[in-house]
Amino acid sequence: MNPAQILLLERPCVFFKTVSYLCQSARFGRHNFLSRTMLHIKIFSFNPLQEKCSLAWDDTGECAIIDPGFADKAEKDRLYGFIAEKGLKPVMILLTHGHFDHTLGLKQCAGDWNIPVLMHPADKEILKDNGFFRKMFGMDIPDVDVETEDMADGDEIRFGDTVLEVLHTPGHTPGGVCLLDRKDKVLFSGDTLFAGSIGRTDAPGGDYDMLMESIFGKLMSLDGDIDVVPGHGPTTNIAEERMKNPFLQPFNLPIEDEEDGDNAGQDDIDTTEDR
Ligand SMILES: [Zn+2]
Ligand SMILES: [Zn+2]
Repeated sequence: MNPAQILLLERPCVFFKTVSYLCQSARFGRHNFLSRTMLHIKIFSFNPLQEKCSLAWDDTGECAIIDPGFADKAEKDRLYGFIAEKGLKPVMILLTHGHFDHTLGLKQCAGDWNIPVLMHPADKEILKDNGFFRKMFGMDIPDVDVETEDMADGDEIRFGDTVLEVLHTPGHTPGGVCLLDRKDKVLFSGDTLFAGSIGRTDAPGGDYDMLMESIFGKLMSLDGDIDVVPGHGPTTNIAEERMKNPFLQPFNLPIEDEEDGDNAGQDDIDTTEDR
């Protein structure tokens, strides 16, 4: 990562963590630094619901496309243009869940790159039938006919040198998952957890109690300095949500030291093209 990239980072906490990582690495010498890979993330906002599609890649250049919700050619061109510009090689599409705003570009994306699509099987019906949302939004939302490969709780999804652990977090949908990179301390939370909010549970398959069980059982026990990339809205981190998320009251914990620990994440989250 070059200094210009560091300056582009939006949030001070990531900025300082990144700087401390670079300083620490300098002590171990150049070879050690170069031999370590690091997760890079580019976040795009797509379609009228401002869904966040993430590209995640490491220094091998292999990348995963998470929730390709692009709705038109202009949005698709932004995603594909970035992939071409960086010389990345998409190797898989990962779905945090089957809702239309996360899958509007799925059929084209899967066809264009001819790569597998991984999703939790409990969302297969939701992925294929968008009748509820056509009525709800009065929009022409096509049904999605794409074959998916199953992911399950505890699975380790690998691309390049990166490992994403699947945390099945039902509630927003039955097959909702979060994807956790423990090494780089990043969680892709889909529509389960947002900055200062949680996913809605009033669509088919939604279950509020189950969502709360997922958040408290699987997410609130994670390290506070894990960055969270939600399916809508700004990025956050676990400590911030544990302390302040109003939907998790009265369980909010006392103030935590968010900069605690020497092994701060090595993620490089770029939202500069975000719109
Ligand atoms: Zn959703
Ligand atoms: Zn969504």
